[in-house]
Amino acid sequence: MSDAMRRALAVVIVLAGAVLLWFSGHADQEAQAARNEVDATIASAREHAVEQDPRLHGTYRFERGGWIFVHLEGDPASIGFQHGYILAPEIEDAFPAISAMMTHEANRDWAFFRQTAREMLWPKIDPEYQQELQGVAEGLNARTGSQLDVYDIVAMNSFEELPDYYVAWLNKQKKTPNAPNLKSPGNCSAFIATGSWTKDGKIVIAHNNWTNYVNGERWRIIFDIQPTHGYRMLMDGFPGVIVSNDDFGFNSDGLMVTETTITQFEGWNPNGKAEFVRARKALQYAGSIDEYTKIMLDGNNGGYANDWLLGDRKTGEIAQLELGLKAYKLWRTKDGVLAGSNWARDPKVMKQDAPAFDPNNRETSPNARRVRWEELLNQNKGKIDVALAQHMLGDHVDSFQKKDEANERVLCGHVDASPRGVAVWAWNPFYPGGAVQAKAADATMAKEMRLVARMGHPCGTDFAAKPFLAAHPEYNWQAPYLRDMKAGPWTEFRAGEQQEHAK
Ligand SMILES: [Zn+2]
Repeated sequence: MSDAMRRALAVVIVLAGAVLLWFSGHADQEAQAARNEVDATIASAREHAVEQDPRLHGTYRFERGGWIFVHLEGDPASIGFQHGYILAPEIEDAFPAISAMMTHEANRDWAFFRQTAREMLWPKIDPEYQQELQGVAEGLNARTGSQLDVYDIVAMNSFEELPDYYVAWLNKQKKTPNAPNLKSPGNCSAFIATGSWTKDGKIVIAHNNWTNYVNGERWRIIFDIQPTHGYRMLMDGFPGVIVSNDDFGFNSDGLMVTETTITQFEGWNPNGKAEFVRARKALQYAGSIDEYTKIMLDGNNGGYANDWLLGDRKTGEIAQLELGLKAYKLWRTKDGVLAGSNWARDPKVMKQDAPAFDPNNRETSPNARRVRWEELLNQNKGKIDVALAQHMLGDHVDSFQKKDEANERVLCGHVDASPRGVAVWAWNPFYPGGAVQAKAADATMAKEMRLVARMGHPCGTDFAAKPFLAAHPEYNWQAPYLRDMKAGPWTEFRAGEQQEHAK
């Protein structure tokens, strides 16, 4: 008898016993207790059987500083299966939250997103990522019996690009009546510096993730992915999603990557490849700035349009790829600093892809943070290192009001505290969003596949859901998903780090 058959038989025996137990119940209460026992027995039998699955070889997780470190390795199907299995509790928690945010904001039901994932995105996904996504669904199902299938997982993976890019474009095309006010999001504050700007002359990269707090509080995974093909990757990420998606990471060949979005970007190419696939592929396979650019341009669908901040630790060169749909621009230097806070700067990109964006309005969050980045980086020229970067990511100087205030205009965003909200992203007053976590590294750390990360607001303050909702009942629809977002300590992670190193 093979191991697989023996395991299957063991499951059948356990199930049979459990069913007998169930039939033996007399009173309603007993029956219910027995049913619960059946459920628990099935779950435990399933888990026990799956633990022996060869696809799980080598994977592990541990928690530290509010983060979950996850090591995945092997062929695409195994990486996906490990991901779905080892993060099953977090995926089951994240899926209702993220799908609620997508359906609420886009005013489309989940069937719409599943159909879009199946018909528009899936056929253009490279086979290896199809296998990985299928693996996520299978691993999740194997662990919990979840009914989510691969199209749910694909739709979830495109949470940054379908509602605010595709649906916004679709509504315009079809002149959808009563269409919601959808705007491309303003995600993140970041910079990359090199040469005479940094303390050691090598690259320093830093990023804080801006998003709504529902998603942000769950954006707590550090993925260490060692694929059979391509380079090893260390990146932050979201449960169930195969790309970093806020994007901070590097690969073992020396490429360092982050980004911030382009405010008021408009456009979509339904024949293009999903952004989440291109961005994952670029991190996995690009060994240079040119290769990265080439992969991102191949099948550009306009989804999640970003200013990519790139570094190559082998050469010390950094670059900014402003990736519109109709236009794009690449700047590169071996001595300089490139910052991002959701503004486009190339005249052609602005004109063709973000026509509503006003770069001169200093009141808006993107432009106010642009001014602050320029001040802060210029003040610290020649001194920039990871410690300083950590400090900058928690900065609260509002360049427009010229004062310290936790609001929507500061590098460490607190839009929940702003009576203005951020209209250019369709974030209403006191929108529960802002900077939700942060990461930083230098070239030496990237070479050793290490990064530092802080969960929660990078300044270290906590967000408390209950008093917020009491003060702002207009956001009560988020109550089932909105949780406290506690700030953790700055914490170091290293690829390949074993569980015994965990506290
Ligand atoms: Zn802050």
